[in-house]
Amino acid sequence: MTRTFSFIILNFKNFKHERVIMTVRTGEQYLESIRNRSKVEIYVMGKEVKDVTTHPFLRPSVMSFKATFDAAWQEDTKELGRAWSPFIEEEINRFNHIHRSPEDLAAKVKLLRKLSHKTGACFQRCVGWDSLNTLNIVSNMMAAKGKREMRDRFVEYLKFVQKRDLALAGAMTDAKGVRNLKPSQQPNKNAYLRITEVTKDGIYVSGAKANITGVAATEEMVVLPTRAMGPEDKDYAVAFALPTDTEGVKIVVGRQLNDSRRMEQGEIDALPYFYNHEGLVIFDNVFVPMNRVFLAGDWEYTGTLVEIFSAYHRQGYGGCKAGLGDVIIGASADLAKQIGVEKASHVQDKLTEMIFLTETMYSAGIAASLNAVKLCEGCWWVNPMHANVTKHLVAKFPAQIAQLSIDIAGGIVGTAPSEWDLKNPKLREYISKYLQGVEDYTAEDRLRMVRLIENVSMGVAFQIESVHGAGSPAAQRIMFSRLYDLNYSQEVAKSLAGRKSELKFTSKAEPWRESQSESEARESGLK
Ligand code: SF4
Repeated sequence: MTRTFSFIILNFKNFKHERVIMTVRTGEQYLESIRNRSKVEIYVMGKEVKDVTTHPFLRPSVMSFKATFDAAWQEDTKELGRAWSPFIEEEINRFNHIHRSPEDLAAKVKLLRKLSHKTGACFQRCVGWDSLNTLNIVSNMMAAKGKREMRDRFVEYLKFVQKRDLALAGAMTDAKGVRNLKPSQQPNKNAYLRITEVTKDGIYVSGAKANITGVAATEEMVVLPTRAMGPEDKDYAVAFALPTDTEGVKIVVGRQLNDSRRMEQGEIDALPYFYNHEGLVIFDNVFVPMNRVFLAGDWEYTGTLVEIFSAYHRQGYGGCKAGLGDVIIGASADLAKQIGVEKASHVQDKLTEMIFLTETMYSAGIAASLNAVKLCEGCWWVNPMHANVTKHLVAKFPAQIAQLSIDIAGGIVGTAPSEWDLKNPKLREYISKYLQGVEDYTAEDRLRMVRLIENVSMGVAFQIESVHGAGSPAAQRIMFSRLYDLNYSQEVAKSLAGRKSELKFTSKAEPWRESQSESEARESGLK
């Protein structure tokens, strides 16, 4: 396929990204577009940030985001990094692609694994990607039930994003307030983002979305509901898209392990090249034009939407977290060499265990892709059982991988002198002498690798995100229980035990029930 540029300005209502259209942008073009935005309101540690591309806290995160654009141009990732869009009939960056086959879904997992090798961090663009794919399926379901205008709005928005190769955030998790109360029962009426007013031109919303990955580095936010809702919650059943620099939107970036080290502007201790961030996004009576509203009071679709989105994102973890596993395995093996223990049987055994844990996560992600489910024409969803299993493995294995890497690397991961000590002329000679192991390596080699293990294995992306990103472990367990047909397996067991059984073998190999999304697609006549 040929590289495609279009040099036309589209006339999309309320369009703020007044720039030349490019369906596959370079990383530099992305950086240029988010530099010095006039209306954006972003705070880091209490201070407002205007240029996210130079701020020491946010720059590593921006560089990880940039890697998703570079991937479409670099020889080793170009094929995975691009896809053909039938919506605009052009080649686009895969991060804005609608999956059209199980192979497309597997390409996603492979691309994420490779990008983890290039960043050692979460590169943050997949949540927006999963949001587009979710809305693609849900808007088809809505159209099948007579809500054609939602489908038309979504397709126009998708084309708008694909033509400009925009960087999207997916904003789903609400502040949630009191967890055992529904949105409409909350003492704080804005604990879940809600529609406060509807006019003929659009809607006004107030509330907040929490833990929003990479949001300060994006150009647009796709906002989705965070849970299944009933008719009493219809004001909270809202989905839309907005430019990140919309008036009334405030982004408060969250603190992280070692964040103040990044402010020191060193080059070793904070791993200042690539990182990721999450933010609290506050919507203070924000206007959303009607052509960007995809759900407004349509509570009947919220359960399906959440099921589809969460399975998409859970599948992706099989790629990105396996890729981070590779980084930690490599760093641990290198450190073992540096101190002369690489041939010790217990070290070999630990590395083998780390490989097993990493490849198990990846295998599940690939299974979720290749056993995909077609929900409508041109809509491929991941296999919901495999996707939930993937995420559940990811909630457990990174902690084990980190522990094994610390076991190999030694206590130095928590006790090493700073890079500033190494750079101090009064100390350099001593530290060089006492931190060195095998002669082929320097103390600086060791310190760099120790810091890589510290920052990657204990950072947000590998530890916190792995547990709670794309839903808590409990949410995946609920999904296994819903999808697994215990009655069927009991009948299998009864029949083999020679007891009276109602067993009628089905054509499926697995004792799985249909998911809510599959049954919705079937009932809508899409499947
Ligand atoms: Fe992408 Fe993984 Fe980060 Fe999610 S956690 S945005 S799948 S890199």
